[in-house]
Amino acid sequence: MICAGDPVIRKDMAAEKRYYQIESWLKIPWLVHGFGQAGFDWDNLVEEFSSFFPVEMKQQHSEQVIFLESRPENEIKGDGLVTGTRGLLLVVKTADCLPVFLVDRTNQLVAAVHCGWRGTKEKILLRALEIMRKKSRSSEAELWAGFGPAIEQRCYEVGREVFEQFRQNGFRVEEIFQPGEKTGHFYLDLRKANLLLLTDEAGLSERNIFQVDLCTRCRSELFSYRRDRDNAGRLLNFIGLK
Ligand SMILES: [Zn+2]
Repeated sequence: MICAGDPVIRKDMAAEKRYYQIESWLKIPWLVHGFGQAGFDWDNLVEEFSSFFPVEMKQQHSEQVIFLESRPENEIKGDGLVTGTRGLLLVVKTADCLPVFLVDRTNQLVAAVHCGWRGTKEKILLRALEIMRKKSRSSEAELWAGFGPAIEQRCYEVGREVFEQFRQNGFRVEEIFQPGEKTGHFYLDLRKANLLLLTDEAGLSERNIFQVDLCTRCRSELFSYRRDRDNAGRLLNFIGLK
């Protein structure tokens, strides 16, 4: 299946780097970030960002977000990381789920969040924002969000139980679901669901939300669980403070 509005490599992405970046974020001297492609593995990450300490989580599809002040000593279980500490590289691994970065430009805080359907339904992005606000009183105007590649709506059919859980949690389901091919199934727009959380519930301006709008299932340089099942690798998405 081909996605609507078939994605092209936009000018603001540096494709030759093996990870996508948001062009306007490259002007921030204290920030590093990237949404990895399939060829960009852990060794590449460690080598290219050798002055950083990369932090990965044992991801659970939960709504757990952890604030890090220093290098963690033990394994971290959760799906979101926030830090204001220089030299930590926050990593989120995905294969269809939406990776989201948050940046507080004034107070120099960053977050990396794993937004699958379960975490999205539990509004994990709002939890990350809550932690950032508690630490620095970040205002909406100072916050930027960056959405990476993820499975797009036309490629992401889910069952009615998913639809029902979003409805129960107060999502505007008419905006994020379309009827599926199969009776009782729906196409879920994970990107839009998270966008609405930021604009409707957190008060961010759409102007401050940046998108690398590519479908993991349609593009061969990205990993997709729906396409590759158990053979799917994981894309490495990273953000940190220099
Ligand atoms: Zn697709």
